Amino acid sequence: MVHKLSSDHYIFSFAKENKPALQINSGDEVEFETMDCFANQICTKEDKLGTLDWERVNPATGPVYVNGAEAGDVLKITIKEIQIGDQGVVATGKDLGVLGHLMEDLYAKVLPIKDGQVIFNSKIAIPLNPMVGVIGVAPAGEGISCGTPGAHGGNMDTKLIAENAVLYLPVFVDGAFFALGDLHAAMGDGEIGVSGVEVAGKVRVKLEVVKGKKTKNPLVQTPEVTATIASASTLDEAAQIAVEEMANLLQRTTPLSIAEIATLMSAVGNLQVSQVVDPLKTVRFSIPNPILASYGVKLGS
Ligand code: CA
Ligand code: ZN
Repeated sequence: MVHKLSSDHYIFSFAKENKPALQINSGDEVEFETMDCFANQICTKEDKLGTLDWERVNPATGPVYVNGAEAGDVLKITIKEIQIGDQGVVATGKDLGVLGHLMEDLYAKVLPIKDGQVIFNSKIAIPLNPMVGVIGVAPAGEGISCGTPGAHGGNMDTKLIAENAVLYLPVFVDGAFFALGDLHAAMGDGEIGVSGVEVAGKVRVKLEVVKGKKTKNPLVQTPEVTATIASASTLDEAAQIAVEEMANLLQRTTPLSIAEIATLMSAVGNLQVSQVVDPLKTVRFSIPNPILASYGVKLGS
C-alpha cells in the first residue's frame, strides 16, 4: 500500500506531542512531498536570506504513526525513490558555516537543475547526488528541533541517506512518529558552507517495524557499505561513538575478538565526516558490506 503525504503536513521538531498526519501499518510505503530547508521561502533572485523567517527553517513532512512500533524496536526505512525539483538554493554568509568569519553579508542563490546537473555558473555544472538531510523519529523526552541531529536521526545531513539506502532508527515512543525533509540535490561531506543544494521534492519510503533488534544510534546500509552514524558536540566525541557502535555491532554478530575487530575496522573501515555545521556534529563509520556478508549478518530481518 502506498500512501501520499503532502508538504502541508509539516513539523519543526521531532516530538511525541505532535499530532500524527498519517497512520500506517508496518510494511506500507509512503510518498512524502517535502519543502526545501527554507520552507520554500527563497525561490527567485529577489528572495534574500536576510528577510528569511528563521522560525520556518528545516520543516519535515509528517509525522507518520506506524502501527505496532513500540519503544525499544527498530524502524527500518527503505528509501525507494527520491525526486527533486528543477531548481535548488545554496546559502551561506556572515557567521554561517566554517568560513562565516570571512564574510560580511548573507548570501543565497537559486541554481537551475538540468539534465542531471546543478548549474553552478557558466563554467561549473555539479553532478547530482540527491539525498535526505532530515529524517527521524520522536525522542523519548522533550522534542528536538528538526535542525539538530541525534540518536533519533533528525538533521544528520549524511550523503549515504540516498536512493536504495536502508536506514535503521531506534524507536523511542509508540508509533515512532516518523518524518523527513531537507532534500539536497547535491552535498559534499561536511556541508561546510551551512547548506547543500537545498531542494524541494518527493521521497518514497517503505517503513517496517523490526522487533527483537536494538540500535542505540542510526545505522545505514547502502548497496556498498554499512555505516553507524553518531552526532555529538565535537567531532572527536562523535567519532568515538560511531566507532564503538560499529565495534558493538561486530561483537554482537560475529565471533571475532575485540582485537580482531579493531584491526579489521582499522584495515577496511572509513571514519567519515557527515556535517560540521549543525548544532551537533555528525560522523559515520562505514565498512564494506562483504565483511558482514562473510558472517551472514543481515540487519533488520
Ligand atoms: Ca540539513
Ligand atoms: Zn539542507
